[in-house]
Amino acid sequence: MAIISEGESLQKSDISDNKKNSSREAVLPAENEFDMNFENNIRPKTLDEYIGQSQLKETLKISLEAAQKRNEPLDHLLFYGPPGLGKTTLAAVIANEMGSRIKTTAAPALERPRDLIGILMSLKPNEFLFIDEIHRLNKLAEEILYPAMEDFSIDRTIGKGHTAKTLRVPVPKFTLVGATTKAGSLSGPLRDRFGIVHRLEFYTKEELTFIVKRTAGILNAKITEDGAYTVASRSRATPRIANRMLKRIRDYAQVKADGIITSEVANSAMDLLKVDKFGLDITDREILKLLIEKYDGGPVGIETIAVALGEDVRTIEDVYEPYLLQAGFISRTPRGRKASPEAYRHLGYPVSSIQKGLF
Ligand code: ADP
Repeated sequence: MAIISEGESLQKSDISDNKKNSSREAVLPAENEFDMNFENNIRPKTLDEYIGQSQLKETLKISLEAAQKRNEPLDHLLFYGPPGLGKTTLAAVIANEMGSRIKTTAAPALERPRDLIGILMSLKPNEFLFIDEIHRLNKLAEEILYPAMEDFSIDRTIGKGHTAKTLRVPVPKFTLVGATTKAGSLSGPLRDRFGIVHRLEFYTKEELTFIVKRTAGILNAKITEDGAYTVASRSRATPRIANRMLKRIRDYAQVKADGIITSEVANSAMDLLKVDKFGLDITDREILKLLIEKYDGGPVGIETIAVALGEDVRTIEDVYEPYLLQAGFISRTPRGRKASPEAYRHLGYPVSSIQKGLF
């Protein structure tokens, strides 16, 4: 069955083998049932609880209100951006705000045409369908989606061989929410069928501090303002990482301190987890070291980086690179990735060793 979850209990366990195999899991362990419950408890349910992304929220509120006034389903939405920024959460929040249910799946679970047809036929009017990693949909599935998105119908082939006939069958009016880490990998025709396309931004430290405090409240963890700010500062501007870090730090505070997460406790716990003051973990630092030590700062192709570190190219591109770019530790050129002066400084290399003329 291709539906991963129904209703509000969004789960991500089967969604991304890519995310699961990432060595980031050394810091953030694989999801289990306990993690799932934790995820479900801390996910915001309304737009007001959903912190940050203020511009996106503003435009969404208008679209939501307009659709509600017309009593029509919301336009299809596409959210893109690095993992953990809140695409899945936002999809569920929107469905909730529209008073509808959401069915959640991911492109790799829709290999056979009948998987997608089955889901589309099972939708109820005005329901939401969330497809994660939508850039990984195969051509057949895409072609099923086109008429479904445009005319709320699908083409079904009845019979075999020369007696086969194609029938257009209606499906209930629904809203598709696609999420992807790679908007550029989406085919043009699919992308064009989304009425609302938005990029999710990294979070400011203040926004993340708010999220950390909110999660701490749900977890009944005691945290000081400084403690929350420290967790936020070292969480790669990403809510999922901040929340997971908080969970680990809470354990540390219970065992090594008096249970209260102060800035000092958070710093010690994150040092132990080998997360540095910018939130970079071992793999991030290995990427930067590779660029600096082996390639004089670069440029280096993404494949070379992946092979050298024994990582999947997609993991480097989707999980590690976006934050390294955002934080200014690397830059992207047509010839590959380059380490920035900040990367040299951060890792303690003399900036004078940067190849002349490259920056
Ligand atoms: P994505 O789908 O982009 O990979 P998710 O929607 O799964 O990211 O979000 C990861 C976690 O971060 C969720 O469990 C959620 O609790 C938290 N989160 C994401 N965005 C927000 C937000 N804007 N406000 C509060 N928490 C958030």
